[in-house]
Amino acid sequence: MCESLELNGRILIGKEGINGTVSGTVEQTNRYIEAMNSDPKTSEMDFKIDPCDGHVFPKLSIKIRDEIVTLGREDLNPNEITGNRLSPREFFEAMQEENAIVIDGRNNYESDIGRFKGAVCPDVENFRDFPDWLAEHTESLKGKKILTYCTGGIRCEKLSGLIRESGFDDVAQLDGGIINYSHDPETQGRDFEGLCYVFDERVAVEVNHTDTREIVSTCKHCGEKCARYRNCGWPKCNAQTFICEACEKSFGKFCSVECRENQAAASD
Ligand SMILES: [Zn+2]
Ligand SMILES: [Zn+2]
Repeated sequence: MCESLELNGRILIGKEGINGTVSGTVEQTNRYIEAMNSDPKTSEMDFKIDPCDGHVFPKLSIKIRDEIVTLGREDLNPNEITGNRLSPREFFEAMQEENAIVIDGRNNYESDIGRFKGAVCPDVENFRDFPDWLAEHTESLKGKKILTYCTGGIRCEKLSGLIRESGFDDVAQLDGGIINYSHDPETQGRDFEGLCYVFDERVAVEVNHTDTREIVSTCKHCGEKCARYRNCGWPKCNAQTFICEACEKSFGKFCSVECRENQAAASD
């Protein structure tokens, strides 16, 4: 169906459910939503719509996985155990509570570019590392109101379940994630600092449309505040780096002098 609608994107299908993002024209994506809504198996599916100028994926990829998001815990079923779902407004209010602790449920390279003010950002490179992180930080979470968030709310379904399973009762998750929070007419992204990393060609999107908007990342070369994320121009490195416009102009799109030299040598 996605092929016939000329959609691009990434979709994962597992026993837990379906998660994915597709891009296409308004007409194509509306037809996709209608088709999913009219099938009883997917009629309760939640859609988040983000207007953009064209395709944000180069191709279409649909895969079957044991877990939709790989935590290494196929047995932990979010349909059975998960944190309370909070609307953007409820989440904002809960963050103001004195004993609240906000945990960023994403990887370090995502929280580097933006996160909720005051959030704990685990230094993990992969979602699979969260069980170890949690085991090491159990003590610091005792007696707290635990709030988790991620990009679209999917990883939190699993992460908040994992935290509850570890013996915590007061666990809640941001329903629909940062993207939903950003589009909510009441919160308008309030208290989110920086940008939200996304797994498509846009790299990062604006979240905060209020007066609390701030850039939290800095240019790797000059240290100025900067939220431009670029892949290193030496393909073998490809590291994602913050580079300001001025530095990209004078130095090129490289993360280091070494990579710049490597690329120069490669193109000789
Ligand atoms: Zn710079
Ligand atoms: Zn590099």
